[in-house]
Amino acid sequence: MAELGVVLSAPGAVALEEITVDAPGPGEVLVRIEATGVCHSDLHVIQEDGWGHPLPVLLGHEAAGTVESVGAGVASVQIGDRVVLGWKTACGRCERCRNGDPRRCRTPPAAPGRLHRLDGTDLTPVLRTGTFATRTVVPEAGVVALPPELPFEQACLLGCAVATGVMSVLETAQVPEGARVAVIGCGAVGLSVVQGARLAGAAEIRALDLDPAKREQALAFGATHTEPGPVDYAFDVVGLGATFEQALSLLDGGGTAVLIGLSPSGETATIDLPKLFRKRTRVLVSHGGDHLPQEDFPRLAKWALDGKLDLAGFVTRRGRLDGWSDAFAAMRDGAVIRTVLTP
Ligand SMILES: [Zn+2]
Ligand SMILES: [Zn+2]
Repeated sequence: MAELGVVLSAPGAVALEEITVDAPGPGEVLVRIEATGVCHSDLHVIQEDGWGHPLPVLLGHEAAGTVESVGAGVASVQIGDRVVLGWKTACGRCERCRNGDPRRCRTPPAAPGRLHRLDGTDLTPVLRTGTFATRTVVPEAGVVALPPELPFEQACLLGCAVATGVMSVLETAQVPEGARVAVIGCGAVGLSVVQGARLAGAAEIRALDLDPAKREQALAFGATHTEPGPVDYAFDVVGLGATFEQALSLLDGGGTAVLIGLSPSGETATIDLPKLFRKRTRVLVSHGGDHLPQEDFPRLAKWALDGKLDLAGFVTRRGRLDGWSDAFAAMRDGAVIRTVLTP
C-alpha cells in the first residue's frame, strides 16, 4: 500500500515521498495519522543529519490518529480507537523499569523494519514514531487511547510539547506550590512549562523570550511577569550557552535550573563554580519531562477537557503534509506556537 511520508534521505535532503507501511507484527499497532504537530526536534533531526537516527529517516514524532490494525497480543487498544502516539515509552524489562523507574527507561521499544522507501530501504522513524506520514507502525506501548471529546489537532500536542513542558515542572523538577518560576523560551514547550507551573500552583511565573510578542502571549497561558527576577526554578527551553547561563543567574539560593532545550552539537556554557557552590544550585536535565505516556497522557487530556490546560490556544497554524517546509519556516520565524499538519 503506497503511503506518504516526509523523509530525510541524506544530509539536507528532505522531501515528501511515497513510502510503504507493512502490517503490524506481534505487539505492534498500525495507526492512521489524523494530526501531527511540527516540533523543533524534527528540525534538530534535519540540522544534525539524523541526530543519531540512521538515514533515511521518517520525520515527525508528535501525533494523534486512529488504530487501523493491531498485531498479535495487543490488548490495550483495538481497531478504531483514537490514540495519541508516545515516544518516551518504557520497555518494562530493563533494570530501570524493573526497579520501578519506567520514566527513565533506557531501552524504549520500537517496531523496526515496518516502514520503507519505495526501493525497499528501511526508514528509521524519528523517536520510534515517524508521524509526518499518512500511516505508521509503533509498538503497543507507543499508543495511548484518547477521550473521544478531545479533537485530534489538540490531542497530538500531548505527544511531545505539552508532555515535555508540563511534566518538566510536575515530574522532573516537582515544583512545589508557591514556588517562583522562570521560563526561558516561550514556544509551545515553554508555554507548556508556564501551564505546568500554573497547575503546580507557582506563585510567580516569569516568561522570558527575546521576542516581546511571545512574552506577552505567555500571560494568556498563566505567566505573571514578563521580565527577569529572582526565582526558585529556572527552565531553559532553548538550550544555548547564553540561555542556560541566564537560568543559573536568575536562581536564588538553593534554586534549581532545568535544561529542557536540545543544544546544537558543540554548544557550551560557562559556569562560575564558586558561585554555583555558594548558592547550592541544583541542575536537572529533562528528557521530555520524564513523561510516561500511559500515565501522563490520560491526566493531561483530562485537564484539557476540564479547562485546566489550554491546548486549543496552541494550534495557531494548520496545514497539510505537503506544507511541511512552510511549517518549519514558520517555526523558525517564531510566528507560530504550533503548526498542526493533517494528511
Ligand atoms: Zn525499560
Ligand atoms: Zn518534540
